[in-house]
Amino acid sequence: MSIVYLNGEFMAAENARVSVFDRGYLLGDGVYEVIPAFAGCLFRLKEHLSRLQNSLDAIKLENPLTADQWEQMLKQLIGQNMHPELSIYLQVTRGVAVRDHAFPVDPQPGVFAMANPIHKLPASYFENGVAAITADDNRWQRCNIKAISLLPNVLLRQQAVEKGVAEAILIRDGKVTEGSASNVFVVHDGEIITPAKSQYILPGITRDLVLELAETHNIPCAEKDISRQMLFDADEVWLTSSTKEILPVTRVDEKMVGKGTPGKVWQQMMDIYRDYKNGLLQQAKC
Ligand code: PMP
Repeated sequence: MSIVYLNGEFMAAENARVSVFDRGYLLGDGVYEVIPAFAGCLFRLKEHLSRLQNSLDAIKLENPLTADQWEQMLKQLIGQNMHPELSIYLQVTRGVAVRDHAFPVDPQPGVFAMANPIHKLPASYFENGVAAITADDNRWQRCNIKAISLLPNVLLRQQAVEKGVAEAILIRDGKVTEGSASNVFVVHDGEIITPAKSQYILPGITRDLVLELAETHNIPCAEKDISRQMLFDADEVWLTSSTKEILPVTRVDEKMVGKGTPGKVWQQMMDIYRDYKNGLLQQAKC
């Protein structure tokens, strides 16, 4: 039975209750984070808390906890849900109020957090790569906010599920933005390319780490536009996220990417990423 955190208390998941008047429930008025915890270690916590702060600032909601309080609470949550690889989900809503679009005068934010085991992706995903489709990016223009109102992403991801593929790669005005729940990279002539940060993409923590690791290992990389044509001409296509890490895509819209197998640059980056992760875990430095 999993233990969750709700508004200052830890409790069995089935005992956690929130009001139907919570603005998260009625209006989707809130933000969230997903933080992986490997061997009890919160991976890139500082970066996740900083993105949470940016999301809260963007929706003009005061952070209900300090960074230390978040860390304490999340560590306790991990302690109560021991598993080697956990995905920590946390959300902050604008709390319970009489339903009205306008902000309540004195909001009492609702804080919820849970820890779920990360299910290992099938080995075939890494041996053969996964398939993706392209889809029109019809979301709003503030995709940099990690908002709980995810209906557009839900519908886009469902398009992928119904086509039997792993992800929908989104295209806005002829340019790749991101996946429905991941960031996108392509490799062209040995250069790793991902779109620059903007209001049209979520600033992925894994995305930033991949760029950081590429730079420290002198692998050419750039943050620039990826046209639809560049996506189809790419030698390699990858998806990144905290729980998927770096996933090779070998088919897009039923067309083969590169040679149709996970590429050399992906393999190199995956090795670097694993070394980095193991290094942190060994030093308990995450
Ligand atoms: N973009 C979107 C829309 C996402 O939902 C996610 C995963 N939550 C990402 C990118 C990847 O972000 P991260 O690397 O921080 O998990």
